[in-house]
Amino acid sequence: MNYKKAGRISTAMGIVAISITLLMDFFTDGELNLFSGFVIVFLIALLCGAATIKAVFHKCPHCGGALPFRSSVGNFCKHCGKRLE
Ligand SMILES: [Zn+2]
Repeated sequence: MNYKKAGRISTAMGIVAISITLLMDFFTDGELNLFSGFVIVFLIALLCGAATIKAVFHKCPHCGGALPFRSSVGNFCKHCGKRLE
């Protein structure tokens, strides 16, 4: 997995998590029950997974330096200055 794919996957996971959060009120009718408990656990797992993917794979392919945590990284690594593909 390269850094672009990792960025896309973790962004997609974040969007899914936000969508579920927005829909949760609709599903649970504003009340906490067993189902909403499962949804909250799933959301936390999703966000942890997204953060882990970013932390592990969102790196410069040349020097391994961590890339910024935003979607537009730019064309050059801020650590080694080499072009990112
Ligand atoms: Zn680099």
